[in-house]
Amino acid sequence: AKELPESQCDVLIVGAGPAGMMLTTWMARCGINARIVDKRSMKIFNGQADGLQSRSLEIFDSFGFADRAWKEANHMLETSGQNPGDDGTLRRSDRVPDAIVGLSRFTQIVLHQGRIERFFLDNIKKHSKDSLRVERAVVPEYLSVSEELCDDHSPKSYPLKVQLRHLTEEEATPAQSDGQTIQDGLFRSNLAEDDTDDLIAHSRANAGSMEVVRAKYMVGCDGAHSWTRRQLGFKLEGEPTDFIWGVLPDIIPITDFPDIRERCAIHSASSGSLMVIPRENKLVRLYIQLTEVKPDASGRADRSQITPDIIIKAAQKILAPYKLSYKYCDWWTAYQIGQRVGTNFDYRNRVFLAGDAVHTHSPKAGQGMNVSMQDAYNLGWKLALVVKGVAQPSILKTYQSERRRIAQDLINFDHKFSRLFSGHPAKDVLDESGVSMTEFKDAFVKGNMFASGLSVDYGSSTLVAKGGDAAEQGDGTDVSSSMTQIVGKQELATNVKLGMRFPSYKVLNQSDARPWHFQEWFKSDGRFRLVVFAGNVLSIAQKERLDAFCENFTASTFLAPHIHKDIGLLTCHSAKRIETELLRDFPEVLHPFDDKTGWDYNSVFVDDLSYHEGHGEAYKKYGVDKECGCVVITRPDQYVGFIGKLDGEGVKAVETYFQGIFVS
Ligand code: FAD
Repeated sequence: AKELPESQCDVLIVGAGPAGMMLTTWMARCGINARIVDKRSMKIFNGQADGLQSRSLEIFDSFGFADRAWKEANHMLETSGQNPGDDGTLRRSDRVPDAIVGLSRFTQIVLHQGRIERFFLDNIKKHSKDSLRVERAVVPEYLSVSEELCDDHSPKSYPLKVQLRHLTEEEATPAQSDGQTIQDGLFRSNLAEDDTDDLIAHSRANAGSMEVVRAKYMVGCDGAHSWTRRQLGFKLEGEPTDFIWGVLPDIIPITDFPDIRERCAIHSASSGSLMVIPRENKLVRLYIQLTEVKPDASGRADRSQITPDIIIKAAQKILAPYKLSYKYCDWWTAYQIGQRVGTNFDYRNRVFLAGDAVHTHSPKAGQGMNVSMQDAYNLGWKLALVVKGVAQPSILKTYQSERRRIAQDLINFDHKFSRLFSGHPAKDVLDESGVSMTEFKDAFVKGNMFASGLSVDYGSSTLVAKGGDAAEQGDGTDVSSSMTQIVGKQELATNVKLGMRFPSYKVLNQSDARPWHFQEWFKSDGRFRLVVFAGNVLSIAQKERLDAFCENFTASTFLAPHIHKDIGLLTCHSAKRIETELLRDFPEVLHPFDDKTGWDYNSVFVDDLSYHEGHGEAYKKYGVDKECGCVVITRPDQYVGFIGKLDGEGVKAVETYFQGIFVS
């Protein structure tokens, strides 16, 4: 047989949905030799997921493109409920803020997935200098893992061999439903049969071209039907339920319904329920439960029964007596809820699964794209640092231990939310089959924290120096052997929670008085951050502590090669800004000097009154002592890994933390 062309790459990514894009963004940002392939010939242009939670926007901002999403999207600020009154007619029962006030500098926004994928592509292009592109119409058809090489972490070890098949344009273009002029997303919905095997078979019959890639790591971001997951023999656990959701996304509605421009949950007395999601450009997405379409014996709904006409009729019944029609429909699809979580998120820390490939659930709570991107956000920097030889491969274990628990939380949340949303409203307290509207509202308000993405709290590991729930790793795996020896001093920064993302408050730049949200400086560039809460640097005793810390920090033979390169420094002090001088009061390591560009003026900040925006009260809100301060270490994904004392002795613990992570 003819030899196939063969090449090597460090990370091979399968699937260019939100998870694959996020992972590729990390690869581009960290300069990793990666490839990304997708079986489709084109990216999606409209429809699909649309809700972006606060945490996803914080992440986008750390890569430098949240502003694009923020500007184009519809901002969803209010949520209301419409339920049957005593006479059975709909009336507004509640109006609440859509997001918890003060939790993040971003609120929830809505913009379709096609635009979000565009922002990723532009960012990947910029940071990889156009060397990393999505290779479309390419599918893997064969994966073999060399078991012996899996534990060999030398730079020449490539344990994975993947055969890729290049499809023709025609093979890679998904067919739309017969006779439809409006784009539908059924080919990507979980009601559609997976076509991967057919694509491969078709291409084989036509003698399509192939190549072999040898890779160090591979990540299956190939969605709910994941080919990668199938090769590994991993299963998703859970039950598909029989709620069929007709989603008639993206119409411009013509209606007298008053709450059409806010998120609104509507429970009709007997015609089912509906969720309004107001979108950009006057579009509105309606999530409608289709009670007419029942699944067949295999548990799958007959797709041919679902049409825009059926969906709009269902919506009209739920909204009656209000009127609803439309002239323009942008996209539509149908979706069946199946709540499942993968048993394994990785194979020997060489092949990983992310996004819908390891968890599926209803689209209604607006979580899928967010959690999928955040899986990849968690994994990307770890892979990058390991590939670069900076971090020990053992940190990769924390991907499963951290993300599987989140996936389980997501399924629990979705389970509860779907049940409450899909049920009919209880007529009274004795109506046990119905859903109590008070319970629905409570779940909604509590769920807001989860839905913002800000409740994520990673357990103890080498990366998170917190004691306590160390054994609870979500998957039962004992990671205690890799557990860090130190425990961070939570009491020194009571509101900067170990394991959670570093919160953001306003601080001023010491050099030019400009107010910033502190988090804006925690860029996703693959570096940890040592945050020096320098305290009152004008007190002699505190200045001595700061100097001793900085002196020992720079003198540490273990840490020195990593300073600025793998550990960025950010300082926030609490003395009066106008009485403090950057060059006089702060050791050089906190604002390093560069031969070509001089001092770094963007690394020392102060908690002080601004000229135009009031006082951020950052120390108070972070729960840090204004006199003595402390040090906080955040990981490259902004989650808090360690909190310790700011003094000469404190460097020892910082060193121990990094000794558990860095190679040398
Ligand atoms: P996907 O987006 O499924 O991407 C997988 C990619 O892999 C695709 O590009 C596919 O072509 C490619 N691929 C698959 N198999 C192969 C293969 N064998 N070889 C090569 N490439 C392959 N989520 C939200 O957060 N908010 C919402 O409001 C929301 N609404 C939704 C509405 C609908 C109608 C649907 C269907 C989903 C919705 N979701 C929502 C869910 C969200 O779309 C998914 O959770 C998200 O897209 C998952 O991202 P992913 O990257 O893991 O997988």
